[in-house]
Amino acid sequence: MRILDLFFPPRCVLCHSFLKSSSETICSDCSKWVLHQKPIVKKLRYLDWAAAPLAYEEPVRGSIHRFKFGGREPYAAVYADWIAACVQSRDTAFDLVTFAPVSCQRKRRRGYDQAELLCREISRLLQLPLARTLEKTRNNPKQSRTTSVQSRRANVLGVYRAVDASRFSGKSILLIDDVITTGATAEECARVLLTAGAASVSCAAIAAVK
Ligand SMILES: [Zn+2]
Repeated sequence: MRILDLFFPPRCVLCHSFLKSSSETICSDCSKWVLHQKPIVKKLRYLDWAAAPLAYEEPVRGSIHRFKFGGREPYAAVYADWIAACVQSRDTAFDLVTFAPVSCQRKRRRGYDQAELLCREISRLLQLPLARTLEKTRNNPKQSRTTSVQSRRANVLGVYRAVDASRFSGKSILLIDDVITTGATAEECARVLLTAGAASVSCAAIAAVK
């Protein structure tokens, strides 16, 4: 056992129960049900498809919350394995992988951009170049504070702007997000990317609301 484990005993990425060894990432209970998860595929506007390996319910919800707000950056590598497998099961060819950025302000407060971390891992696993294609034009209220499809769409409308469009013009883009709830963020990103010349956009996330 490493000294560090005495102070930071390894815990299951999903249900947060203690693990026997620091070489494990999820517990035996979670590994049983994770294997049987079927990807959740959503049909959204502007996107060829949007898919996630996990349903956005407990214990996944709590896990993503720790990843986003609890400083659990290493979760990115675990999630990325599942997302990459989910993307490969869709059998779609992509030219590059990108992400919906958070505002600089939010990134500063949190210390990292979780979608960018995920994206970096997926870029490595799927051997696709990572490109920054979007930036935020303003700091909209958090999507998690708005509920209806309409209000979520309104909340993200015009929030993103394409950057370096010549680099992705005519290309097939894989957009990475953390959670697909109504899909309003993914739709808005796809709309901006298509308008700027992308050939097609699909979205993969850690989890999606069924
Ligand atoms: Zn577990």
